[in-house]
Amino acid sequence: MKTAPVVAASVEIGADGLPWSAGFGDRYHAAGGALAQARHVFLGGNRLLGPAPRWAGRADFTLLETGFGLGHNFLATWDAWRRDPRRSTRLHFVSIDKHPPTRADLQRLLADSELPELARQLVAAWPPLTPGLHLLDFEGGALRLMLGFGDVEALLPEVLARVDAFYLDGFAPARNPAMWEPRMMERLARLAAPGATVATWSAAHRLRKGLAAAGFRVESAPGFAGKQEMTVAEYAPHFQSPPPPGGLLPAPSHEHAALVIGAGLAGCATAAALARIGWHCTVLDALSAPARSTSGNAAGLMHATLHADDGPHARLLRAGALRMARAMAPLLASGEVHGALDGFLRLEPRLDDAGAAGLLGASGLPVEFVRWLGRYAASARSGLALATGGWYYPEGGWLAPGEVAAAWLRASGARFIGDLQVARLAPTTEGWTAFDADGAAIASAPVVVLANALAAAPLLRHSLGDAAVTALGPLAAVRGQVSAWRWQAGMPNPRCAVSGAGYTLPPLDGWLWAGATSQHHDAATELRAADHVYNRDRLAQLAGIGAESVGTIDAAIGRVGWRAVAPDRLPMVGALPDLAALAPLTRADAARLVPRWRDEARGLYVFTGLGSRGLTTAAIGAELLASWIGGVPCPLEADLRDALDPARFALRARRLSQELSA
Ligand SMILES: Cc1cc2nc3c(=O)[nH]c(=O)nc-3n(C[C@H](O)[C@H](O)[C@H](O)COP(=O)(O)OP(=O)(O)OC[C@H]3O[C@@H](n4cnc5c(N)ncnc54)[C@H](O)[C@@H]3O)c2cc1C
Repeated sequence: MKTAPVVAASVEIGADGLPWSAGFGDRYHAAGGALAQARHVFLGGNRLLGPAPRWAGRADFTLLETGFGLGHNFLATWDAWRRDPRRSTRLHFVSIDKHPPTRADLQRLLADSELPELARQLVAAWPPLTPGLHLLDFEGGALRLMLGFGDVEALLPEVLARVDAFYLDGFAPARNPAMWEPRMMERLARLAAPGATVATWSAAHRLRKGLAAAGFRVESAPGFAGKQEMTVAEYAPHFQSPPPPGGLLPAPSHEHAALVIGAGLAGCATAAALARIGWHCTVLDALSAPARSTSGNAAGLMHATLHADDGPHARLLRAGALRMARAMAPLLASGEVHGALDGFLRLEPRLDDAGAAGLLGASGLPVEFVRWLGRYAASARSGLALATGGWYYPEGGWLAPGEVAAAWLRASGARFIGDLQVARLAPTTEGWTAFDADGAAIASAPVVVLANALAAAPLLRHSLGDAAVTALGPLAAVRGQVSAWRWQAGMPNPRCAVSGAGYTLPPLDGWLWAGATSQHHDAATELRAADHVYNRDRLAQLAGIGAESVGTIDAAIGRVGWRAVAPDRLPMVGALPDLAALAPLTRADAARLVPRWRDEARGLYVFTGLGSRGLTTAAIGAELLASWIGGVPCPLEADLRDALDPARFALRARRLSQELSA
């Protein structure tokens, strides 16, 4: 998907006192009141009010709205859902808007909301206007708002969800025709769960024809505030194509239980994301406590990145950083996790102020997300005498990864079993069973998640043979060493996390950390003086001081770990492909057509390859995995999901061999 800059709505108050879109030349809602309209048209039209609301007794209920506007439909739905004792356990509200309001506009325009507390929470959670999907959780995660900022034509095909009710609320068809086109109705049908309903204030003939052609049974209903008619519809297609063999649909499992192998950032984030959707995990680790391996560094950087082409890497890190900043805010505030997400500076020696301004202008990214700081501004912010300017990410910073992982594990309520190396996994009547080196069964569950970094490959080999390792794809082990010196007056005293050739952060418990080395094919576990020298020299260079001001090599402490890195430097998240089933297929050119190690009884999933960005990608990767396992709406665009799918390597190999034999 090619992303485009998000242009904020320009909202004015019209002569009638109602909010008015200058861009579309139309009112945001009818004169009878935005919430009243939402209740009549969208909640009523989708049968979510009254004696038998459609979400009653459901575990998950998913709504999709075209046109978030000023959020009145969302607020009215939230209000109705939370007051309904029969409500679904979770509500997923997906909403797409090309021109969302800025936070300041949203705050201004919701100042008089009849639902002030809900409006306040929405404004507080409102994200920077960056393209793509954003996750906002409310009600302890039971209500998830998934906002898609971008053109509905580009974003709707990228949404993966089974939708129970649609709110069609774009500006009037005459002013905003793209949103009401028949091909848009076909796209809604692709997302519709059996019996899904549609409601809209529009009674346009073309819309009704489009809905009917897409398989919806269309009816007229009394409109709102004196309007004679509106449209309601129900999905009742004559023919429904069978689901593809892998990818989009959840593996049904009656017992919502999973074994997670590995209690680093990936495993603990997975347990937390699965707990949110009602799954219970047993997390197993070879070490005695969570995050004792690579995830156990004292501190690490968490931040997005900016690339001119806005490819999968930049989009993933942006989604991950936005998610992480919101997920960490309460943990940082309570002191459960040490860190500071109050700004991160990425030095760019190859860019000058003019070049940066050009790049930033073309990206259209808002200043709440990233801005350029010239050399002097960057020096003032960081407290270091910097030689260059850099990108400044206001929501980036540093975190203690071990505390993050431990907090996720606690929040998940998962059972943790430490000091237990899983030697083998085998399919059994209970799903999957994990065995120790003596062949004793440790635990069983219908679903297994391999979150054990580089050790995923050997475990697969012992369990399922070499083909399963090939299915996982290649992972390189990249050794890294971080170093620290006890902070004393005269040493660099960074005020925020900074990276350039190396990185550093504000002194932590009296230690100044610097990192990190990066060595392939290096299995040495001991700390090396040469690596301390390397880290010290780069810190000195970054801070514009002599190396002797940092400290002596004898005085350094440090830590060694190995990053699990895929060739494309993206994590691997998803169900393991089944290569034996893939080989004879003639049509398997897309990830969703690839058969997997999962069926009604069991599923085998992987979450590894977090490379050197685990703090930024663990939370969003775990949410992605939870959508694979639980079938809830996918938190990333479909093409990004494919980019992270472990099947990408098998698909590339297959394409290559087909090209060679053609
Ligand atoms: C020097 C260095 C600096 C870094 N700096 C940063 C940074 O600044 N920011 C950032 O975001 N990232 C950084 N990283 C990367 C980050 O640490 C990793 O991305 C992250 O820790 C990976 O988490 P994980 O859960 O995938 O792996 P791990 O933390 O390695 O967790 C895997 C777990 O699986 C367990 N396990 C393995 N096999 C088995 C088995 N068979 N049975 C039971 N348990 C098993 C292990 O004991 C381990 O606890 C750095 C990495 C290094 C090496």
